Amino acid sequence: MPAMDAIRARIRDVPDFPKKGIVFKDITPVLQDAATFKLTVDALADRWRGERIAKVVGIESRGFIFAAPLAYALGAGLTIVRKPGKLPWERISEAYALEYGQDALELHIDAIGPGDRVVVVDDLLATGGTAEAVGRLVARQGAQLCGYSFVVELAFLNGRRRLGSEQVSSLVTF
Ligand code: IMP
Repeated sequence: MPAMDAIRARIRDVPDFPKKGIVFKDITPVLQDAATFKLTVDALADRWRGERIAKVVGIESRGFIFAAPLAYALGAGLTIVRKPGKLPWERISEAYALEYGQDALELHIDAIGPGDRVVVVDDLLATGGTAEAVGRLVARQGAQLCGYSFVVELAFLNGRRRLGSEQVSSLVTF
């Protein structure tokens, strides 16, 4: 089976999670199968090899799962973007809109620097609001955003358009 089909086959639909009417894409079966997890990390790394990536930026919390092995595979540093109140040191913050209300994401000020070539990683792209806020954090530090990488893209929510299509790569699209 081609790699992307193997990954797709292990993404599970969970109806009415986290609330009624939402069909949640559950990526835990991808993680639990040794061969599929390896395929997934290898496919992410294949996209970025040779691009001189200095930092892989993982978004809390499922983004961390893929960002860490990707950083290791590329020989890059790992930067974590976290929910408010989790990072201990000096940080910057960017708010973003949720369906109801807003949330924010934070970055340590020494995590990435001017000119650093970075890639932003998360498990899934939906509307793009989360990744877009992380893109703003990266831009505020003067780093060079090389692109966004996702395992899953929900194409019907148009996150790709919001982030700039040429900036987005994803392994599996629904
Ligand atoms: P966005 O900001 O609308 O693109 O939402 C993306 C964020 O929400 C990511 O951090 C995802 O982890 C999370 N997310 C939204 N929908 C799903 C889903 O169906 N499965 C897993 N994560 C999701």
